[in-house]
Amino acid sequence: EETDSYRPGVGMRKEVEGRDGTCRIDGCTEPAHHTQLDHRHNYADGGATHPSNLACLCQKHHNMKTDGTLYYLLDPNSGDIIWLFQDGTWCMTEPEGPLAPKQKRWAQTVGQHITTTRTRIREEAQRLKQALDDYHQQQEETQAAGTEATEAAAQSGENADTTDDIPF
Ligand SMILES: [Zn+2]
Repeated sequence: EETDSYRPGVGMRKEVEGRDGTCRIDGCTEPAHHTQLDHRHNYADGGATHPSNLACLCQKHHNMKTDGTLYYLLDPNSGDIIWLFQDGTWCMTEPEGPLAPKQKRWAQTVGQHITTTRTRIREEAQRLKQALDDYHQQQEETQAAGTEATEAAAQSGENADTTDDIPF
């Protein structure tokens, strides 16, 4: 549904807004429907009016893009954006709207998502239990070592009261 016009149609605009959710700058929460659609490749330079070349930017960040303070690369398939800043740093943002490719995949497989989440929670619980077991074992070993040290100290007749009680 590419258009020759500079302005995307309502459908395309909604599609890009639905993909992006907010202004695409990391941490900017301006809702997509309040943003402007930026042509990643300038329309004047032959950039297409198509979601693969459009990103939601709020007025402020659109101005920064226009004056060259901000530069970005847009992955036409995933909608991921790599931001390049003037100081040489960069960061990546993923589109977080309900129509973002990754969100979409999630929406299509709600059952799988639940299964995956439950599996992950079970695995995390097991990892936590393992960590606790390891911790307790470590504590026992420490106490055993402490007892040995105490006995050794007692045998040599020195003050054995060198280990502080651990409050748990
Ligand atoms: Zn913004």
